[in-house]
Amino acid sequence: MARICIVGGGILGLACAYRLSEVPGHDITLIEQGHLGQGSTSLAVGMVLRVQETEAGQALSRRSYELWDVLSAKGHVNLRQVGHVSPIYSAAGIAHAEGLAALQRRMGREPFRVIDVDELARVVPDYQPSPGAIAAIWDEAAMYVDGAEAASGLAVECRDRGVTIMTQAKLTGASRPSGTHRHLLHTTKGDVPADVVVNVAGGWVAQVGALLEAPVEVINERHEAYVFRILNREVVLPMLLDFVPGVTSEEGLYFRGEGPQRVVAGLHSSDLLGTASVDPDNYSRRYTESGMEKVFGLLTDALPDLDLGFESAWDGLYPHHPSNRFVLGPHPDDPTVFVGSGLGGRGLGPGPALGEALAEWIAFGEPQTLPQSTYFGIPAASPHPAS
Ligand SMILES: Cc1cc2nc3c(=O)[nH]c(=O)nc-3n(C[C@H](O)[C@H](O)[C@H](O)COP(=O)(O)OP(=O)(O)OC[C@H]3O[C@@H](n4cnc5c(N)ncnc54)[C@H](O)[C@@H]3O)c2cc1C
Repeated sequence: MARICIVGGGILGLACAYRLSEVPGHDITLIEQGHLGQGSTSLAVGMVLRVQETEAGQALSRRSYELWDVLSAKGHVNLRQVGHVSPIYSAAGIAHAEGLAALQRRMGREPFRVIDVDELARVVPDYQPSPGAIAAIWDEAAMYVDGAEAASGLAVECRDRGVTIMTQAKLTGASRPSGTHRHLLHTTKGDVPADVVVNVAGGWVAQVGALLEAPVEVINERHEAYVFRILNREVVLPMLLDFVPGVTSEEGLYFRGEGPQRVVAGLHSSDLLGTASVDPDNYSRRYTESGMEKVFGLLTDALPDLDLGFESAWDGLYPHHPSNRFVLGPHPDDPTVFVGSGLGGRGLGPGPALGEALAEWIAFGEPQTLPQSTYFGIPAASPHPAS
């Protein structure tokens, strides 16, 4: 029986444990330094977008939608299918979007539509796009999920399948005793022996990598999300992202309705912002007035008929790999250490499929459900300070 210890109880660690627990021959322990989902997972806004740039991205998105459906059917998550809109500002943008929709169709998925501004006004009557918008992506099937709900739902499934889940169990050190197991992991709740260790520690992946002598780089970007109360009426809003991967280069406004009386909003980019990495144990947890005012200004321009009052805010980390790619697979220095990292600001949605791929890599030597692609594997810009 192979002893696997998963370090990190976010979406990736829990999804990995969930898939691994289906494969006989594994004794799985998941350790989490606090409560499950307490890292980035429970801080996500939860948008699960289907618009993807590449075949690999589409395959990942399709598989994650299948897995979200499974979790929903078991009663663990509520899938809120509210649709996704992204404005388009140029003929080249329309051609690009149509290419992405064609890719989606080729991958056997119901494609999103490119709609003109008249139809956009019918789909989201309250939305006033920025000047210059000539069309929009409208993906009616897109949904959002709650990260904390997903973490606890996956944990219920994992426990039922015999996974040992230890919360408030922080990895503080590791040794390599000779004898029956390869790793002895020291945690705040005692030692855990393991043959294979899985480092899925999100913003802490570098610290855990150092303890395991299997280094991994991370760039932690701090992001704020704001909740505004809609004061003058009730309205059902879709998800909106004023950012198209591969076209837009700066951060764009996003928002989604949170029930009929609230809207959650912030700024998003799929690219690295170039800011210094934040220490995950020591960063400001208070929202910035200037950040809120900026988003409030953009939001009131976008939803001019709604009276909005600021209600609350939260912040969290986008744990990026410097390559801005998902990093998944055996560590090049040590095949008994697996890494899942770099989920950045878009990792909750594909998290279930990424966790599944990581589990299959551990159990079978390669991801089986998803074709191997550039999404997987420690990238060439490998995290080796020494090399
Ligand atoms: C404000 C915000 C909005 C976002 N919105 C979206 C969105 O709309 N859609 C989307 O898809 N994604 C979104 N994301 C991104 C998403 O939340 C992350 O990509 C994803 O949750 C990362 O998951 P993870 O499992 O890799 O990391 P985490 O969820 O951070 O999990 C890692 C876990 O490891 C634990 N850990 C760390 N060190 C140790 C240790 N030494 N011992 C034991 N345990 C340890 C941590 O406590 C943590 O719980 C958002 C993120 C933020 C911050």
